[in-house]
Formats: sequence, C-alpha cells, structure tokens
Amino acid sequence: MVFAGTMTQRLNNLYLNSIYCATEGEGALIGRPQIFVRVQGCALGCVNCDSKDTWEFGVNPPCHVDDALGRISALAKQGLKRVSITGGDPLHPKHTPGVLQLARELKSRKFFISLEASGTRIVHEIFDLIDFINFDFKPPSTKIDRAFENQAQLIIELAQQYPGKFQIKSVVQDERDFTIVLKAYNFVLEKLGHYVTFDWCLTPVYNPGEAFPQERFKLILQLNENSGGVFRVIGQQHKWVYGPDEKQV
Ligand code: SF4
Repeated sequence: MVFAGTMTQRLNNLYLNSIYCATEGEGALIGRPQIFVRVQGCALGCVNCDSKDTWEFGVNPPCHVDDALGRISALAKQGLKRVSITGGDPLHPKHTPGVLQLARELKSRKFFISLEASGTRIVHEIFDLIDFINFDFKPPSTKIDRAFENQAQLIIELAQQYPGKFQIKSVVQDERDFTIVLKAYNFVLEKLGHYVTFDWCLTPVYNPGEAFPQERFKLILQLNENSGGVFRVIGQQHKWVYGPDEKQV
C-alpha cells in the first residue's frame, strides 16, 4: 500500500515506543489482528502495569507523524487496515498533538482506529475522530489515587456522547477490586437511568514472571456469575500463548 499525496504542513511529533503488528489479546476486540502504535511515556504509574518500559518520557528521539505513517504503511501492505494506538498513555498532553495528527492522517486513509485510554480524561477532538475507545476504570489494586465518582462520571459522559463506540476495561486483582468495579457499574447504571449497553470487561491480573493465575481467574469468574453477570471476563490471550513477559505479541 502506498500513501498518496504530499504533506503540505509540518506534522507534529510522536514519542514512540514501537510500531508492530500483532493480534489483540484482551477486551472486546480480542482476536483482531492490528497494527499497534505504542507511545512512550505515561505519568500514571499503575502498580500492576505490564508495560512499565513505556513509562519514561524522552527515551527515544521524537518521530514525525509522516515517518510513523510510512512504518504503518509497510506493515499494512497485506491489507490490514486496523490500528490500535496504545502506550504508555496516548492521551497525556505531551502525546495528544501527535496522536491527533496521526489519527487524522489514518482516517483519511480509511483505517479503523481504536485507542487505549487510561480513564483519566476525555479528549473530544480525538474521540470524535477515532472508531473505538478502550477506556479504563482503575480499581484499588492499581494504587491510582482517583475518586471513584470522578472515574464513574467520565464513563457516564462516554455513554451519553459516544454510544456504541467504547468499552470499559478494568484489570482486577481480587475481590476488593471486583467490589469497587461493581459499585461503579451500579453508580453508572443509576445515573444513566437505563440498562448498560456497552461492554465492561474485567481482565484478571496476570503479572510478569508469574505462572497462569488460575485461582485468581476462577475467583473473578465466580464473583461475576454471582453478581448478575454484568461484566465480560476476558483474559489476556497473548500471555497464554507467548507467556507473560513477551513483548510485541
Ligand atoms: S495507564 Fe497504562 S501504561 Fe500507564 S501505568 Fe497504567 S497500565 Fe501502565
């Protein structure tokens, strides 16, 4: 695939960790091959993050969006037209100008774009443009100090403004996490005043270096079954296949 046209304006920079092709391993889009554009830099610091190598800003030199488009073009030559913008935190203010420019360029080339959002902010310019939003709700084990109501309020905004275009994802460690996520679900349900139509996916924690956490997984499945089954429990398929430490899979 060759991208037609010439760039008439200087493009914003992207701060990249990597660009690679793999199959989505978790959440509602599981099983979909995608080109992953992983940004470098995240200021949140979730303790159970499995991409800690993406936290530090300024590790790699900035990359022009047109260079990133060239790398995506090379990976897309078999016809793959799906891009996942992930991180790191692609909605951190340092990333948003480059991510917005990249999304515009990809949409003009008719790519399907999904984006991994940390759940701390809504960026309308980007959300309006892309096709699907993966939005986090962070439970207590992440140690992210955000009021439960603030997080839930953002989900209500998403439901009102982007129906049919997002999923909520929560990485859960234990019963305490499950209880808080269920509380958030019920809070959102009550505020919306109607049933929840979007997927809210629970990902049981599978830590780097750990054997498959079967007991943790069974606990989350049982808690969900015993609480009305309001969530989708979906593990991290790529970790079963390649092991929990393998990158770019
Ligand atoms: S927001 Fe994502 S990349 Fe950042 S620390 Fe949390 S899990 Fe890791």
